[in-house]
Amino acid sequence: MTLLRRGASITVNALFQFNSEDTLEQSWTQVLSDIEREIPDSGTFTAFLADMRLLRIEATEAVIAVRNDFHADVIKEYHAPLLLRLVRKHVSSKISSLHFETLVSTDTEVEEESEDIVAKTKPVESPVSAVIINSEHFYEDYTFDNFVIGDSNQMAYQAALSVAEAPGSTAFNPLTIYGNTGLGKTHLLQAIGHFVSQEETASRVYYISALDFLKKYTDCVKEGIEKKHNTIHLFYQEFDAIDVLLIDDVQHLAGKEKTQKAFLAIFAKFISCGKQIVLSTDCLPEEIPNMHEGLVSHFTGGMLIDVQAPTQKTKIDILRQKAKTDNIQLSPDVLCYLAAQVTTNIRVLEGLFTKVLASSIFCNSEPSIETVQELVDDYKRDIRARITTELVQEKVASYFSLSVGQLRAQSRKRTVAYPRSIAIYLCRTLTKMSLKSIGINFGNRDYSTIIHTIKKMEQDLATDDTAQKDVALLSKLIQS
Ligand code: ADP
Ligand code: MG
Repeated sequence: MTLLRRGASITVNALFQFNSEDTLEQSWTQVLSDIEREIPDSGTFTAFLADMRLLRIEATEAVIAVRNDFHADVIKEYHAPLLLRLVRKHVSSKISSLHFETLVSTDTEVEEESEDIVAKTKPVESPVSAVIINSEHFYEDYTFDNFVIGDSNQMAYQAALSVAEAPGSTAFNPLTIYGNTGLGKTHLLQAIGHFVSQEETASRVYYISALDFLKKYTDCVKEGIEKKHNTIHLFYQEFDAIDVLLIDDVQHLAGKEKTQKAFLAIFAKFISCGKQIVLSTDCLPEEIPNMHEGLVSHFTGGMLIDVQAPTQKTKIDILRQKAKTDNIQLSPDVLCYLAAQVTTNIRVLEGLFTKVLASSIFCNSEPSIETVQELVDDYKRDIRARITTELVQEKVASYFSLSVGQLRAQSRKRTVAYPRSIAIYLCRTLTKMSLKSIGINFGNRDYSTIIHTIKKMEQDLATDDTAQKDVALLSKLIQS
């Protein structure tokens, strides 16, 4: 790959004395090889640093060419001190600052470059024809065909379909789908995977939840430490062999700085190679607490699209589709009644439906509206025993006119911190979640912070009337 640089040969300010340009090139090679040695993960080096070129030296500033503005941002943010130290060591100790310029390519070279990139990133020969790499994580029925389109999700559906039809070739890269839990984000991500895997192009698809990504990365780092042998390149290699990456629930990367860095490296490589990334999150990217700014802006750099709560009509359509698949007759009254029982979460709607289906199979008859009403009452009692953190967060957030994202964020303002403490306390008292899981669901706060918040809330409840009233009212709302 040849890249034409602004000022193709290195120009050196008169301040510096070098034997020849060769010497300078050699010094630069030395800089790169030291960086490669000093940076703990080779993926970052390959993705961001290996391409750097020393363009010229102006006064006491080294002007360095990098691939694009994004690369410049990452290098400035994470690697500038190391780079400056090595430039001073190998090039000249008189250099006191670095300046980055973006590489430009001629037309023909762009083609060469993209061919080269394609060649580099072409998947290693796969012994099997299957192109969904980790098929055990895919649900068979999460397809576009099974997705009911309504006003609340039409845009997200269209965007997902466009991406599936031409992965990496639309403006939707990355495609980020956001919305509350149970609105079909995972379904759409996996529908893209199913669709792409059936195309003749046979792109390789990989689906991973952010929590699994986090685990995979930390396991790899731990293994390297245990074996005293860095294996992180294997982690990156696995992603190199993928064409379409589907990452679910990226809000779980909140506060995980090292994993975010690893993700950033993979992310940048995907985008620069024109490979497709699709993400989901349960709130707006900028509301994810402790998320690297660069990542947030890249999450939103392609297409950001939300899924909203389904309308009554969509809920009925979903029930109708399920009834058809499972071959059960439901009267319009029953459909209407069932749909009205659920405000947002389609997973809950499916739970209700399954209950009705089981009863109808058991009784071998079409369920009457009275039977369905009884089943719904039972189900609601069941749900009460299975209240989730998401439900608590949604109720508390809407009670205090906040978003769920704000509730999970790091803000210490009382208008947010007080509702958050109540939500954490209610999660502890109304759900079966462990302190660790509650912490994960509140922006990855650690276990000790959660204990401290609960203890403090218990003290407040003993003396503070307002807190008592808020907690009592909210408990009722959540359990109703
Ligand atoms: P999320 O990832 O947003 O929490 P999921 O994708 O897991 O939600 O959806 C929850 C359940 O609801 C899944 O079983 C999914 O198949 C179903 N579902 C969601 N939206 C639709 C839809 N528009 N049509 C059919 N089923 C849907
Ligand atoms: Mg999901």
